[in-house]
Amino acid sequence: MPNDSAHPRSRWPWQRSFQLRITAAFGGAFLLVLTLLTLWIGRTVFQTYLDAAEHELEVEAFLAANALEDPLSGYAAEFEQFRQWEDDRKHESSGDDDDSDDDSAPAPATATGALLLPRLQNVAEVYARDSGANVTILDLAGAAVASSQRPPQEIPNQLARPEVQSALAGEEREDVRADDATGAMMLFAAAPIQQGSQVLGVVQMSQPLDEALAGARNLLFSVAMTALAALALLVALAAWLARQLVRPVRNMEAAALAAAAGDLNQRVPVQTADELGALATAFNHMIDEVRAMLERQRAFVANASHELRTPLTNIKLRAEAVRSLGADEPSLAARYMTELESETDRMTRIANDLLQLSQIENEARTAPPVQAVDLAAPLREAAAIMQMRAEQAGLTLRVEVPAALPQVAVHAEEIAEAVINLLDNATKYTPAGGEVTLAAAVTGSDIEIRVADSGPGIPAEDLPRIFDRFYRVDKVRSRQRGQLPGVGSGAGLGLSITKALVEQNGGNIEALSQPAGGMVFTIKLPIIGETSNR
Ligand code: ADP
Repeated sequence: MPNDSAHPRSRWPWQRSFQLRITAAFGGAFLLVLTLLTLWIGRTVFQTYLDAAEHELEVEAFLAANALEDPLSGYAAEFEQFRQWEDDRKHESSGDDDDSDDDSAPAPATATGALLLPRLQNVAEVYARDSGANVTILDLAGAAVASSQRPPQEIPNQLARPEVQSALAGEEREDVRADDATGAMMLFAAAPIQQGSQVLGVVQMSQPLDEALAGARNLLFSVAMTALAALALLVALAAWLARQLVRPVRNMEAAALAAAAGDLNQRVPVQTADELGALATAFNHMIDEVRAMLERQRAFVANASHELRTPLTNIKLRAEAVRSLGADEPSLAARYMTELESETDRMTRIANDLLQLSQIENEARTAPPVQAVDLAAPLREAAAIMQMRAEQAGLTLRVEVPAALPQVAVHAEEIAEAVINLLDNATKYTPAGGEVTLAAAVTGSDIEIRVADSGPGIPAEDLPRIFDRFYRVDKVRSRQRGQLPGVGSGAGLGLSITKALVEQNGGNIEALSQPAGGMVFTIKLPIIGETSNR
């Protein structure tokens, strides 16, 4: 069961989903890039279209002005006519103060509305039709003479307009501004009408900006649509990639939950050689380790119960026998009672051994810190303890420990216990008449403690496993040993404890079966201040 309270709080959906975060990040980046790109393209397209439209309008104005330049056409006469009207009008209005500002009625038309400058008006209309733009013909003073759009008298004076000014100065210039009448944005261009060295007037052309840029808008719309489609595609791709990335993580989560629920056969597929692949490999390795650990634990519990059950059965059988014999056979009953005691002792030893093992391995011991010690004396004491047992077994115990040894950082009593354990085994398994040796010497940066015997040794196939818990080479022979209290139960725990004690004190232990028979156990402990080369 996952512990929900262990999850950090998440307020937003993307905080809960790695996949969503990746997709959102990619989507955001794509959106930004495509928007900037579209804006840039838009600006360029609009500018290009505007330039083209301006140029075109300029050319149209130029062509129209050109048409008016033929000296034989009589257009000049109409301009002259218009100038006369203008003069007359100005003359009239200068005599009438109230009307002095009224320039809205140059009246180039008759009262019936018929055009009085039909040639110029015709040119304006023809060019307007051909070009699709508005054409206005202005005189030199900027007044509208003819227009394709509105009656000329409704058009305000255009002299101040930039394009008109430029045309009169012989330069090309366009303008974009709001139309006087409609307020719509318009594009303006103008060209001078020249007859020889005389300038008659100006052709002014205008076109709604909307119209001029319609093509640009269409193009930009296509670009935006393409960008949107690309964005959708890229986001979909990012989502797919994110899914691919997250899938192994999800697999691992599922496998971890299943493993937590007890299924240790879980494996996640290792699909890539990248970090996720490495994580999957590590995950599988972890599951393997957990399973192996559990199996060791199970085997340990099974072995322990088995070892405890044997003496319990023996105890029960003896107890029943003593009860049924009663007072009839006191000597037999007394023998059973002794056996009862020894079985009980054996159980106690196994229980103690197990407890000690678990204590060493859990590091739950409240042992004082290690001290710098000279092991010579503790080793001699260990030998002294075993001296009598060796004699009883008809063995010679040789002690080759120098008077003093370099100091090592250990718990002396634990190393002594390990050595007693080895001596106990040696005495136990070596037939009478044999020899057991305890030796200590300096080799390189270590102190080497050797326990050797002239016994049968251990078969090569058993050697790798003798330090395993409950591992015994010869079960029957082994069970009869372990006479010293607290040392070796005869259940195959003695060497496990010995190894745990040595390693706990920073050393290591090796077992060697000699070809000529006899075992050699070697404990190595690093000397203080020497760099170990192990
Ligand atoms: P036990 O408590 O049964 O003696 P140990 O862990 O001390 O268990 O020893 C494991 C096995 O190694 C024993 O069953 C014994 O057969 C073998 N063994 C240990 N020491 C010696 C030795 N010095 N000579 C021969 N066999 C030995």
